[in-house]
Amino acid sequence: MADPCIFCRIARGEVPAQMIASNKEIAAFRDLNPQAPVHILIIPKNHIGSLDDTGDSYLLGQMVSLAAAIARQEKISKTGYRTVINTGKDGGQSVDHLHLHLLGGRPMTWPPG
Ligand code: 5GP
Ligand code: ZN
Repeated sequence: MADPCIFCRIARGEVPAQMIASNKEIAAFRDLNPQAPVHILIIPKNHIGSLDDTGDSYLLGQMVSLAAAIARQEKISKTGYRTVINTGKDGGQSVDHLHLHLLGGRPMTWPPG
């Protein structure tokens, strides 16, 4: 049976995605349903369900640092951007594989919905 986790399948190259960056541990690709002109997802290649399922501060730091590097590459670092990790039901997480959203290219509002 195919792996039910879509982000694991993207990480393995089994499902196409617009890949932005990839190293041994992390992949970054464009969101299928972008909510801003720049909307990129940064994921660990190994399956981690959510932020509640890891204490790997090195990995988490790498994900955040990569988001900042991609923001510079996408030329949104001067205008600003938002990084978001939705966790669990109340957090609005819809894909149960840890991911960091990088959103930019338009002004964001606060509070989030
Ligand atoms: P969440 O709501 O879990 O924080 O975010 C999941 C994100 O994954 C959503 O923004 C959704 O558009 C994106 N997404 C879901 N399935 C796919 C897919 O197959 N490919 C890509 N590139 N993005 C996806
Ligand atoms: Zn997964």
